[in-house]
Amino acid sequence: MDQRAYEIAEKLVIASKRAYNRGIQTGSGGNVSARIPGTETMLVKASGGSLGDCSPEGFLITDFEGNLIEGTGKPTREALLHGYIYKLRPDVQAVVHVHSPYAIGWSSSKRDLPLVTWHSRLKNPEGFPTLDVHAAMVRPQDVPMVEKMFEKTPNIQAFLLADHGVVAMGKDPLTAEHTAELVEETAQVAILDKIVEKLGL
Ligand SMILES: [Zn+2]
Repeated sequence: MDQRAYEIAEKLVIASKRAYNRGIQTGSGGNVSARIPGTETMLVKASGGSLGDCSPEGFLITDFEGNLIEGTGKPTREALLHGYIYKLRPDVQAVVHVHSPYAIGWSSSKRDLPLVTWHSRLKNPEGFPTLDVHAAMVRPQDVPMVEKMFEKTPNIQAFLLADHGVVAMGKDPLTAEHTAELVEETAQVAILDKIVEKLGL
């Protein structure tokens, strides 16, 4: 990959390691990507391996359908979702997808994540919708659901996939990662609020 792509891959590595070290992704799950500006291509982590020990060389260049253009390895099956986002949201430059436990716990309710903290309301006034996709990945037949969500809430910075995880978007990899952390924090507080309510405290 050229120097520009390599520099973007370096930023993806920083965001990946932070997500892993913060515990919003364990093992070999999750994925991160970034648009290569001015092109119809993106950098995405190769399938397998962990966010915790990835390197710039472990990133592939694919088109928005997830077809490999450059690099060694197999693109993740979730590349399709990343590509859809870059097509539907020209403002988004990076996507961080993680399987963080509180967010997944909340998403099992199939309800949108409520903005229970001042911080989440200030940072994400359009909220965090939950998409009830009945599969381990977003498939071509699920795209209308994604499109509808972006029509209704065109500026959202993150959404949840029911029983699956968080998809956070941003102007660069670290911004998207911070949003993924905020979603997890918000989900944790939302669940704690429910417990407090139940206990009648
Ligand atoms: Zn996933």
